[in-house]
Amino acid sequence: MSIGLPAERFADRLGRTQGRLAAAGVDALLVGVGPELEWLVGYPAHGLERLNLLIVRPDAPPTFLGPRLEQAAAEQAPGLGGGAVRIVAWTEGDDPFARVPALLGSVSTDAHRRVLVSDGLRAIFLLGLQGVLPGADWGVASSVLAPLRRSKDADEVALLRSAAEAADRVIEAMAAGTLVGRTEADVAAEVRARLVDEGHDTAEFSIVASGPHSASPHHEPGSRVIGTGEALLFDIGGRRAGYCSDTTRTFWLAAADGAGPDPLFAEIHALTEHAQGAGRAAARAGSTFASIDAAARQVIASGGHAEAFFHRLGHGIGLEVHEEPYVIWDNPDVAAAGDTFSIEPGIYLEGRFGVRIEDVVVCTEDEGSSLNSSPRGLRVLAGDA
Ligand code: ZN
Ligand code: ZN
Repeated sequence: MSIGLPAERFADRLGRTQGRLAAAGVDALLVGVGPELEWLVGYPAHGLERLNLLIVRPDAPPTFLGPRLEQAAAEQAPGLGGGAVRIVAWTEGDDPFARVPALLGSVSTDAHRRVLVSDGLRAIFLLGLQGVLPGADWGVASSVLAPLRRSKDADEVALLRSAAEAADRVIEAMAAGTLVGRTEADVAAEVRARLVDEGHDTAEFSIVASGPHSASPHHEPGSRVIGTGEALLFDIGGRRAGYCSDTTRTFWLAAADGAGPDPLFAEIHALTEHAQGAGRAAARAGSTFASIDAAARQVIASGGHAEAFFHRLGHGIGLEVHEEPYVIWDNPDVAAAGDTFSIEPGIYLEGRFGVRIEDVVVCTEDEGSSLNSSPRGLRVLAGDA
């Protein structure tokens, strides 16, 4: 997988990060394999047992410490090749942690230096770093990086849009295909294959929830055979050129006798669709995330199903499928143009069925503009194409 952005974007990000570190009084940022490394230098490194560490200080050129056998791969990364970052290789059999103090200079010897580590850094790496930097005060990278990563530039929005459109095509292909008589797991495997066919590097998740399983928001697809006259929920996504897709649509499978959807299902589907539209409309720049959540939630509450919508309205999305900002009732932060997040209300009636409708939106001055465009209204599928 490669991150589809030009090299100078990464130099700009490193520069802005150094400015933030200085402003926050942070002496060093230590970034292991994961989304922070991808955001800063475009390097989706192997997340295995060998230490990879990007060292960013406010007052010194960045350094990347990585294993010798992956040096050539590291140099291919748009933000690491070209000399903007000094690459230091450690050799198999060396202790890579012993190299860190020299790369940090006085940060390693003075007490109470503020050092941040990437949020998902493995414990084994953090413990190794703590062993060689005993006097440091530790914190997490998101305290500095999350505000920078939150707002997407036009290229990032374009990548998110491409991923969303690819996921929409998968939803439509599934809706047009054979579903009845197959297991959820079999259909989920087809979703994953189609996401890859549509250019995703990885299919990260493929929720296929039929009948009463649709009332379980994060259902794990299994051996249940999809039937007629029941609900079917797809929540699918993956990573395409580094950026994530995530969309949900809920259908009704036509009954064998031609009867229409269960009236209660039709009711909660309409309510969820209305709530989802209200959430998108509220997702304009200047709104708090709490108020965006409330705009959708009150639609569902007024329909009498407040208790059946028991999760937040949405989550930020970018290099990670869940990242800041979180669209939830207790988040007082204010949305800004360029923020990208999901709007995904749901109503879950245990033992019967559930509905969720999810789009990824980009916050604008007027609304949350959806990157997904597959129809949101209730559709009854034949399911036996
Ligand atoms: Zn989802
Ligand atoms: Zn989601």
